[in-house]
Amino acid sequence: MIPGRFAELHFKERIFKTASKLDFMIITDDHMHLYNHLRLKALKQFKEVGGTHVLLVSLLSHHYNVFPKKGEDFREIFDRHVKLVNDANKIVRAFAVLSVHPAEITVLGDKIGYDRAAEIMKEALDLAGRYVLDGKAIAIKSGRPHYRVSKHVWKLSNEILSHAFEVAKDVGCAIQLHTESFSLDGMIEIASMAKKVGIKLDKVVKHFSPARIKEFEKIGIFPSVIAKNDNVLRAAEQGSRFMVETDYIDDKKRPGAVLGPKTVPKKVKELLEHGFDEDFIYKICCENVEKTYGVEIN
Ligand SMILES: [Zn+2]
Repeated sequence: MIPGRFAELHFKERIFKTASKLDFMIITDDHMHLYNHLRLKALKQFKEVGGTHVLLVSLLSHHYNVFPKKGEDFREIFDRHVKLVNDANKIVRAFAVLSVHPAEITVLGDKIGYDRAAEIMKEALDLAGRYVLDGKAIAIKSGRPHYRVSKHVWKLSNEILSHAFEVAKDVGCAIQLHTESFSLDGMIEIASMAKKVGIKLDKVVKHFSPARIKEFEKIGIFPSVIAKNDNVLRAAEQGSRFMVETDYIDDKKRPGAVLGPKTVPKKVKELLEHGFDEDFIYKICCENVEKTYGVEIN
């Protein structure tokens, strides 16, 4: 499924990797956006400091000036995102994650009613699943609002999330979750929703995770640790069952938010100074990514 140009690049990388492990370290940012600020330049910065692989996540519909009236209207968003990811692949190895952001329930619902918004979001998730089947994306993203909503909207949001689990299970892909701030009860509840649907919990990735590796291990959901402060180091001290991300949003109004594109390579390399070896980095940036998303990293 890799177009010629990338296959060539991969071949070169593979030789390089075999020639000397030290010369080529795989460093993956598990969750990044490209919007209206640096765009592909962000990936050049990422690459300059050692970044090699990235999961690029699509944004909310209004970021594309699309105002969906039906699920099918997400096609334009997904197509534009897939095109962006193809362009990104000329710089680093990039994978597409197609998102139906939980906040769409508010963005769309305020205009067209929450019940209709929920229907559209479910249709859009079905569509995202078809893109995964077509090999255009490796995962979908769903979740539930991180801000206070009415009981009705919360109920609808949980239904959407369950639907997203169904889609991911049927398609056999991973699902990234944008949720309320971490709490044990919240995560346990989400894990039980996933179990009810029957999706494997190591395919359920909590985006923007705190360094609570042991707890996630018990719950079963896979953490994608936000690389702020000393999170990566604190996560590493607890084990190797995690991935790392910046949630870089590339918004010119908030440049550098949430974290800049160079952060993951920087923080991952810092692990070496703290006594973690390259095999450890290989585990979090390569093996965990391969296993979770069912992709080949090379
Ligand atoms: Zn994000």
